[in-house]
Order: sequence, then C-alpha cells, then structure tokens
Amino acid sequence: GFAILNGNIIDRSEAKVDVEDRGYQFGDGVYEVIRVYNGKMFTGAEHLERFGKSSDSIGISLPYRTEELLALLEELIEKNNLQLGIIYMQLTRGVSPRNHAFPIEKVAPVLTAYTKEFARPDESMKKGVPAILTEDIRWLRCDIKSLNLLGNLLAKQKAAEAGCFEAIQHRGENVTEGSSSNIYIVKNGVVITHESNNLILKGITKDVILELCLENNIPVEERTFTLEELANADEVFLSSTTSEVMPIVEIDDKKVTEGQPGPVTKKLQKLFQLEIENQCGK
Ligand code: PMP
Repeated sequence: GFAILNGNIIDRSEAKVDVEDRGYQFGDGVYEVIRVYNGKMFTGAEHLERFGKSSDSIGISLPYRTEELLALLEELIEKNNLQLGIIYMQLTRGVSPRNHAFPIEKVAPVLTAYTKEFARPDESMKKGVPAILTEDIRWLRCDIKSLNLLGNLLAKQKAAEAGCFEAIQHRGENVTEGSSSNIYIVKNGVVITHESNNLILKGITKDVILELCLENNIPVEERTFTLEELANADEVFLSSTTSEVMPIVEIDDKKVTEGQPGPVTKKLQKLFQLEIENQCGK
C-alpha cells in the first residue's frame, strides 16, 4: 500500500524516518485517527482541526492548510482502495541531534500517514463489553493528542490482561476517561460525561454524540462524575472513533444494566448510524 511522508504519497515500504526523529525518541509529536466509511472520511475536518490545535499547543506548526491535507488524505484513501477502515496520521517536531529542549535552528516537522482496513465492532456494539477501573496516572495535559501514550498503554494492558475491552480511569473519586475513549453514564434519562478540560481528550465522537443529544432532546450534563455515580448508573457506555457508541455491561466483574445495553445507549447508536449515513452514505 501507499503512505504519506511529508507532502508526498509514496510506497509504504519507502516511508522511513530517521533514528533521531523527535517523535521516535521523545514522543514529541501529535496524532489523529480518522474513520473511513464507504471510502469517505467521517468528521475529517473536525479531526484536522484538533490535529492543528494539538500541534499548536506544543509549538509545532502544521506545515499544510486544512484543505491541502484533506485532499492529500482523500488521495491516499483512493490509492489504497480503502472502503472501511482508518487513517492514522502523525506529526513530529522533526529530526535533530538528541536534546530535550527544542532545536534552535528551524527543523521541518515530519508528517506521516497510512491507512488500515478496520471493521466496525458490530458484535461488541450489540452485546456490550466488559471494563475495569484503574487509577488515572497520566499527566495534566490529556487534552493534547500527544504521541506520549505510556499511561494509556499501561491502563489498556491491565484491561487486556483482565480480558476486558477498556480501562475506565479515575483520579481519586472522579472518573476521567477510558484509556482510548470517553466515558458516559446515564442516570434517570440524563447523559453525563466529563467536561472537556485538561484531564481528558475532547473526543470528536463525543462532540458528535453531544450534538445528537441536543438535536433529539436527550438531556446532557457535561461535568465531573464520581465512582459512586458510576456504580449507581442506569447505563454506561464509551465512545471513540473506532468503537463508536459502545455499551459497557460489566465493570470489575459487576454487571451494569443487568448485563445488557441500555435504551439510551441503543438510541444513541441508532442516531450515530444515521449520522454516518448522512456523511458517508449507506
Ligand atoms: N480519550 C482518549 C484518551 C483517546 O485516546 C480517544 C481516542 N482517540 C478518545 C478519548 C476518543 O476520541 P475520538 O472520539 O476523537 O476518537
């Protein structure tokens, strides 16, 4: 297949980066994962906007305009003949002799992207998935979609070892987010999810879900909620680019909603499906 290296689409086997790329050595860069349905990007512009914000926040300037980048990604999808999958895209500060401080001379940021076929998790979305709880040990800028993911990886590995789909992270009593997803509870018909501040990533899927709630008169509270509220919730679900609206039916071996996806979660899955069809066709 093909990959993007800086402004060019080249054979993936030729897309190589230097051993002193700062992304490789320090995780000094940012990334995005964009869903592709029917050969079309879902919320592509929103992902590129967040990409720009993440890179700005660590002082890397995106060397392409949004329209240029969108066109380049569209070309990549077409060349790779991708129908259903994802684009992975990252931007690092570039290649420079190893030193923690940013390079003094101007170095060119390194942009890479590739595509991957990736099915929708239909079975899991229907049945729901189990999760574990784990203390959130990450840094205080979780709003940046940084390549530094060790905290997230350790949490996800703990979930994997417990045979679970996701780790729900909490800082003390407060639930923050999953290792690679946003977390929601439903109580008395109200959807509750952590406000988008420095402690979580502002999910693009979260934005879509909150908009769908607004349009369909489903009440929403964007606020911190506690482990106790999680334990007493009527429904729990997570969201992400790859997992869409995913019911959580078990937490630390305790059943949620009698082990079944709840009605509000199912309603949001239907609305999300319609939104996919609106943007990308049937
Ligand atoms: N939080 C974290 C830590 C994530 O890694 C992700 C997935 N990228 C999300 C939330 C969900 O974000 P999105 O809906 O944009 O995929």
